[in-house]
Amino acid sequence: MLQDIFDRNRAWAAAIAAADPDYFARLAALQNPEFFWIGCSDSRVPANVVAGLQPGEVFVHRNVANVVHSSDMNLLATLEFAVEVLKVRHVIVCGHYGCGGVRASVDGHTTGLAGHWIEPIRRLAHRHAHDLARLADEKDRLNRLAELNVAEGVARIAETPILRAAWERGQRVTVHGLIYGIADGRLRDMRCTVGADVQELAS
Ligand SMILES: [Zn+2]
Repeated sequence: MLQDIFDRNRAWAAAIAAADPDYFARLAALQNPEFFWIGCSDSRVPANVVAGLQPGEVFVHRNVANVVHSSDMNLLATLEFAVEVLKVRHVIVCGHYGCGGVRASVDGHTTGLAGHWIEPIRRLAHRHAHDLARLADEKDRLNRLAELNVAEGVARIAETPILRAAWERGQRVTVHGLIYGIADGRLRDMRCTVGADVQELAS
């Protein structure tokens, strides 16, 4: 059933090795990514592809609607490894327009574990109900909520003991919020960057 996957893999590995015979040996010896990406599980938003990065260049965590739960052991352990062991320079929270998880948070039909998972976005929608109501189009309201979810994720990551400790010891790592447009393939900077060298970046 998975033969197609194996065939594609064999063709891919052969093409890479033909173009760069040392490629896999080099990657096997060292993982040294500059970026840690926290994104949505949506199949249309693969981190490496949309950011134009090769294997080895971005460490990745993805979940439904790129929610940053302060108690998510999976995310926190991955963040800790990225910051303390890999010493990434940039943590990126990336949401996207047209996110099904964001839509599910407001449509009221999602219950069970999935409903629990996206509860923080539902609370965010309540907190910003006044501003969101100013947008006449539902698509615009959902896209704005996706942006708010990214900003909230950046703030939560910056508040973790992992980032606080990194900054206290003078580690140069910044947290960024990006949003991806599925309709045009473009990444947008939400301009909510937090970090020790933000001023340096701006100058
Ligand atoms: Zn999504």
